[in-house]
Amino acid sequence: MAKLYFRYGAMGSSKTANALMVRYNYEEKGQHAVLLKPRFEKRDGETVIRSRIGLQAQALFAEDYLDSCRDRKDWSGVAAIIVDECHFLDPSYIDQLAYIVDTYDVPVLCYGLRTDFRSELFPASKRLMELADRLEEVPTVCWCGRRAHFNARFVDGKIVRDGEQFMLGANESYTSLCRKHYMEGRLKGDD
Ligand SMILES: [Zn+2]
Repeated sequence: MAKLYFRYGAMGSSKTANALMVRYNYEEKGQHAVLLKPRFEKRDGETVIRSRIGLQAQALFAEDYLDSCRDRKDWSGVAAIIVDECHFLDPSYIDQLAYIVDTYDVPVLCYGLRTDFRSELFPASKRLMELADRLEEVPTVCWCGRRAHFNARFVDGKIVRDGEQFMLGANESYTSLCRKHYMEGRLKGDD
């Protein structure tokens, strides 16, 4: 039976590279894996997905693809659906993806952040926590060496904990921190 996977991690945890490698493995075996990204997530321009280590691939906008598949009955040509940056989706799409898994036996792998810079769940990530068959962490570490589970937004070296959940392109930066250093607002050691 196919499964719905939520592979979550903080920023910098190689989720995108992971997604692109899984896609590559399907394609290498001659199987078609659909690669999707939310329309909202446009910082790379258009539909190309790029990882920090240089891998890239052409994707489709998730909302457009899923809207066009609402009544699709024949999924025989689709070996898997891979969604990058899935936390930006409207949660209703997570329900649709679960339906595709259960009805058409197509595995769905969602990669994204669990929580935002306020340490609150993204709505789509919350829905994935509720529905996914498998929750798998893609690990990354804080500067101190502990597991990093939090995404800190900072401006001029100071942590920012409020504002809009969905905001891209502003002059801020993000880093992943462990809970202790997120709570303390310490972006690095020794100062
Ligand atoms: Zn730390």
